[in-house]
Amino acid sequence: MAAVKSKGNKSTERAFRMFLVRNAVAGFHLNYKALPGTPDFYFPEHQLAIFIDGCFWHGCPTCGHVPKTRQAWWRNKLQNNHQRDVRKTALLEGMGIKVVRLWEHDLKDTAYLTLVLRSLGL
Ligand SMILES: [Zn+2]
Repeated sequence: MAAVKSKGNKSTERAFRMFLVRNAVAGFHLNYKALPGTPDFYFPEHQLAIFIDGCFWHGCPTCGHVPKTRQAWWRNKLQNNHQRDVRKTALLEGMGIKVVRLWEHDLKDTAYLTLVLRSLGL
């Protein structure tokens, strides 16, 4: 099961970072540990945090799935991940930070990503 090989999201982060670079967007920190949830991308001038959520680990409704073995365990695990995402988002928003969550599969749709950047004023 290729989707279950790693918890890291280095390749998705790199893909989005390259997209930002191609669009001449600067002024962000990567894996900003000073904030709850360690946002993948943090733009201090915009008070904006962007997370790139892996479709498997974060339970994407479009392409996420529960592995066939140990289903109850996985269901619980993925649900906990989701609840943690919701909690961290609420914490950040409570600090006045705008939170945007993109799915891993969104990275294939550069037209959509471009719209997101425009809507955020980046
Ligand atoms: Zn997905």
